[in-house]
Amino acid sequence: MARDTEVLVLGGGSTGCGIARDLAMRGLEVTLVERGNLTDGTTGRMHGLLHSGGRYAVSDQASATECIEENEVLREIAGHCVEETGGLFVQRPEDSDDYFREKLEGCRECGIPARVLSGSEAREVEPYLADDVKRAIEVPDGAVDPFRLCVANAIDAENHGARVETHAEVIDLLRDGDDIYGVEVRHDSGPGKRTHATPGTTEEITAEYVVNATGAWAGQIGAMADLEIAVRPSKGVMTIMNVRQVDTVINRCHPKGDADIIVPHETTAILGTTDEEVDDPDDYPEERWEVDQMIDTLSELVPILEEARTIRSFWGVRPLYEPPGTGTQDPTDITRDFFLLDHADRDGVAGMSSIVGGKFTTYRMMAEDIADHVCEKLGVSATCATADEPLPGSENIATLEAGMDDFGLRSPVARRSRQRLGSRAREVLETDEPNPVICQCEGVTRAEINDAIAQSGTDLNAVRIRTRASMGNCQGGFCCQNMANELHPEYDEETVREALDELFQERWKGERHALWGEQLSQAMLNYALHATTMNRDHDPARATSRVDFAAFDDGRAEGDRIDGLQGGR
Ligand SMILES: Cc1cc2nc3c(=O)[nH]c(=O)nc-3n(C[C@H](O)[C@H](O)[C@H](O)COP(=O)(O)OP(=O)(O)OC[C@H]3O[C@@H](n4cnc5c(N)ncnc54)[C@H](O)[C@@H]3O)c2cc1C
Repeated sequence: MARDTEVLVLGGGSTGCGIARDLAMRGLEVTLVERGNLTDGTTGRMHGLLHSGGRYAVSDQASATECIEENEVLREIAGHCVEETGGLFVQRPEDSDDYFREKLEGCRECGIPARVLSGSEAREVEPYLADDVKRAIEVPDGAVDPFRLCVANAIDAENHGARVETHAEVIDLLRDGDDIYGVEVRHDSGPGKRTHATPGTTEEITAEYVVNATGAWAGQIGAMADLEIAVRPSKGVMTIMNVRQVDTVINRCHPKGDADIIVPHETTAILGTTDEEVDDPDDYPEERWEVDQMIDTLSELVPILEEARTIRSFWGVRPLYEPPGTGTQDPTDITRDFFLLDHADRDGVAGMSSIVGGKFTTYRMMAEDIADHVCEKLGVSATCATADEPLPGSENIATLEAGMDDFGLRSPVARRSRQRLGSRAREVLETDEPNPVICQCEGVTRAEINDAIAQSGTDLNAVRIRTRASMGNCQGGFCCQNMANELHPEYDEETVREALDELFQERWKGERHALWGEQLSQAMLNYALHATTMNRDHDPARATSRVDFAAFDDGRAEGDRIDGLQGGR
């Protein structure tokens, strides 16, 4: 029977997009389906650490070795998504000397370049480190933008002929006896370019082979064909500060514990994290004490964090997996390695494999492994090229270092645009039209916003992850409406308003966990701008009930007014 596609990839996170790119580059016909937007799963809710492997150098050397290998590859192929910050494993007086020694030896055993710094040398690198920090191990950790990297993979997959279908949720696996031959998806598209199909309709997509890359949701997909995939989702909290208190990744050098890492990321620093097993990756408590713990504990390493402004918090769920029978109790002890489950060998059900576990840092290696496996299954002999072929934007890293004055942008804006766009900077920014800055906090210009709109239509959250607009200090207070404005006149007013509300709602989700101090004032200002000035929570022009204009005279609603005061003052 003729199938719609050769390979169907389920899940639009880093793993799924990496697999789609790898297979499409090998010449296979690929379709990827994702239930939300790209990066809606764990990939969009992680720390942004490009692991050197140092974190696992004692406890999980297989993962540590994979991390350093891929760390080196990603610096080469995704330079415009990576910031080479370096990292420190910092020892406090109460932290064990033995463990410090083990960490150093572990790094060396795994091929991770590592150098010991004294306390004062470490403070020269990072002046805000606590005075009592004893010493540190320097490693090549980095910061990585997961949104940019994931989208670049999807774009390159499309450039090689893949179909990438977002807002398409797998609701069933198509199974004929012991053979899986495709999926049924339900389209939940929004307006604009997101509309691949009519929202609410379903579609059957058949394939020669199906790859389940749905991370923490892999078990739910397996259950559709009565396959047991025992993923152990583990949640972690992250808190974003309004500036970078550190420019180097700071890790606490201790065996394990919550709140032990700070990752500088673009204009911010991200504190993390925790590790707690949950039953459902879509439904778990997000608690205030988890945020407090980040700030309290990490202030022991960097004391100014105690007084600093927090702009938002968010949670992600790790797609941890360990082979049946391992039975690890503490999720921090579960391996960070990845596993390829061939359901034909494992369960006697042909046509599908799942890839589970792993890290963002190792997504490319995971994709290569499963792409090799799929090629073997389909009798294709093409080899992997993803470790050598740069992603779109990283083809010519020299453009990142070129002069700042091009495009008539002020230096910091030009520098940040170049960092984001890499070798695409000229193509995107060169315009005869006025090119004002739309997002002041992140220095994003109209040309960059319009480039993202051309890719993702009215989905302003997709524009956000491509550009970082609305991700800075004001959390969209001042730029959400500017972004929405760029959709007009191509899209009608109702569509533009809907897109604005969706973006604003998404920004609010993370802010509500940071409502104290200056961030509370910012949130109140954002509320005033959006709800009061723009009437976005209750547009009187659309309300069915009559507006009580009289209430404007004396500040009271009609029924509450006291006789005699009517029309007074
Ligand atoms: C708190 C935390 C911090 C982390 N920090 C780091 C770090 O700093 N560095 C690092 O390297 N790694 C880190 N990780 C791990 C890393 O984020 C993940 O391993 C990686 O992002 C997983 O990517 P994925 O593509 O496998 O899964 P996901 O990104 O979750 O992708 C799976 C996709 O499948 C989709 N999906 C689910 N069900 C369906 C369905 N029915 N139909 C269609 N699509 C569906 C989801 O929407 C999702 O987009 C962290 C993880 C957590 C939780």
